[in-house]
Amino acid sequence: MALIKAPTGHEKKRAEYCVEWLQAQGIEEVLSDECTNVIVPWNIQSGKNNCMFMAHLDTVFSEETELMIKEKKGKWCCPGIGDDTANAAILLLLIKYVHEKVKKRSCGVWFVFDVGEEGLGNLAGSRKLMESYGNRLRWVTSFDLYTHHIYTSSVGSYRYRIVVKTKGGHSYLDFGNKSAVAEMAALIHELYGYQPVGAGHTTYNAGVISGGTSVNTIAQECSMLYEARSDEAEALVECENYLYEALKKRKTDDVQIECKKIGERPCMGVVDTEKIMRIAQKCSDLIEKVTGKRPAFGQASTDCNIPLAMGIPSLCIGLIEGAGAHTLEEWINPESLTKGFQIAVGVFETVTEEH
Ligand SMILES: [Zn+2]
Repeated sequence: MALIKAPTGHEKKRAEYCVEWLQAQGIEEVLSDECTNVIVPWNIQSGKNNCMFMAHLDTVFSEETELMIKEKKGKWCCPGIGDDTANAAILLLLIKYVHEKVKKRSCGVWFVFDVGEEGLGNLAGSRKLMESYGNRLRWVTSFDLYTHHIYTSSVGSYRYRIVVKTKGGHSYLDFGNKSAVAEMAALIHELYGYQPVGAGHTTYNAGVISGGTSVNTIAQECSMLYEARSDEAEALVECENYLYEALKKRKTDDVQIECKKIGERPCMGVVDTEKIMRIAQKCSDLIEKVTGKRPAFGQASTDCNIPLAMGIPSLCIGLIEGAGAHTLEEWINPESLTKGFQIAVGVFETVTEEH
């Protein structure tokens, strides 16, 4: 599965792999929706007595990234192997286990392999799932990343594509004309002078920049991707106001600036945080029992952002030992896969019993 390329927006091959694997195990009801999410319903109950377990299919790596599993000192290295391939593979095994071994109970479950979790996917898969099933759910678990953390709350984000355009010209003959690259550099410098307000943790990042024509051309165009993140909704709005003010200041007759909001991940809504912490403690005990190490509680931007914003209690739990998410050096410990399966079964038992 780790060798099947799945950049955000192009998860189809991995989705097909999951469907074929599940059907080969004799699981009859395997659905998909218009987003290419793969959905396996089990024992679905009327009303809200249902949970969802999800793992995302997409990785941050492009079609061009070479995928190969290299073994180094007992580790398996491959881009995307831990975020989120290994967790998704364990979810496949959990579905097989539940269909074969678990007796029907009072809680129903949708098992899901979803799309659009990474990069500019804007949580498209999770959004679609919550639109379809959100009002039937009392709980969501996302299996993502590593066992050293359990994410009990979400971080929201706003993302923008900013394009600066100027007249440009010849670097010698037209010297003095406005340069899109220099204007963008000044803008970024100003954005990095921002001091976030509020008590939450708020960050910003100019993540990608591109532009210019040649070394002897005054650049006519420069673009960047910029994001702000925070656990507080108001802090994100403040960041946005600062950005818009900075853009306004730099716009002149010679400097055109376009700014498009290309992503918005919501912060926490009104949600039963006591229930989240109660289940997080149980899952933490379970992980400590299996791995010998107690996970820390933290906050992150994950598929859980969408249910949490809607008020559905959710947890993001990692099932494997590994590190280096979003880097070419990403690795997992293959011995942790069987432990991860044990944890997944334990989490399944915990959340389908708990009300
Ligand atoms: Zn992930």
